[in-house]
Amino acid sequence: MTPRLRLQPESVGMGMTSQRVRDRLVERLRENGIQDENVLNAIRTVPRHLFVDEALATRAYEDTALPIGHSQTISQPWVVARMTEVLMQTRPRKVLEIGTGSGYQGAVLAALGLEVHTVERIGDLLRQARKRFRHLGLNVRSKHDDGRIGWPEHGPFDGILVTAAAPALVDALIDQLAIGASLVAPVGGAGSQTLVKLTKREDGSVDEEHLAPVVFVPLLSGTLD
Ligand code: SAH
Repeated sequence: MTPRLRLQPESVGMGMTSQRVRDRLVERLRENGIQDENVLNAIRTVPRHLFVDEALATRAYEDTALPIGHSQTISQPWVVARMTEVLMQTRPRKVLEIGTGSGYQGAVLAALGLEVHTVERIGDLLRQARKRFRHLGLNVRSKHDDGRIGWPEHGPFDGILVTAAAPALVDALIDQLAIGASLVAPVGGAGSQTLVKLTKREDGSVDEEHLAPVVFVPLLSGTLD
């Protein structure tokens, strides 16, 4: 698969952001159970160092979450890879992400050739993410809003990823899921969260699977500039 990315010299990176360093991250993800080669390839291609502050660029290919301002974080690469791999199991075409943050997860989905819709409640983060999408030539639709209402005008979606944790799955998002599609989301409070995969069956009922313990920032209500 050809990732739809415009790679400029600074996207390719040098030293601690070089291709060799990225390949090492991909090997580590593979050792930790990520198997989908398309997903590993997308992680190899998307320049994660351009999704964090320049001062943190040298740490961008460590398998760790990093701060992106406004008390938010870019998710750990393993978590991004695992959520994407699970989402890809039902072969989606049009997907929705709640919590754009840095834009990294959205870029990985776009690099897989998916039609990506993403919603972020913090205007400043969304503006930065949009600049990154434009710079990399990625076609991602985004909206500044409270993602708990989803994006009904563009639904139903063949897959939904929620990248912030709530005590329970959000009904409006389940409603916007197509038959046979999966929603992958962290569920729980600050102390203990589980990555949950929910799949909508033919008859509209849902199947719920618990995948792994995770740590995410909370899903909050309302919007901020
Ligand atoms: N997917 C992001 C992870 C960002 S952290 C990335 O790849 O960088 C989670 C993000 O969810 C934060 O930016 C936070 O502002 C956002 N968020 C939290 N609650 C939200 C809500 N109700 N609607 C939309 N975004 C929300």
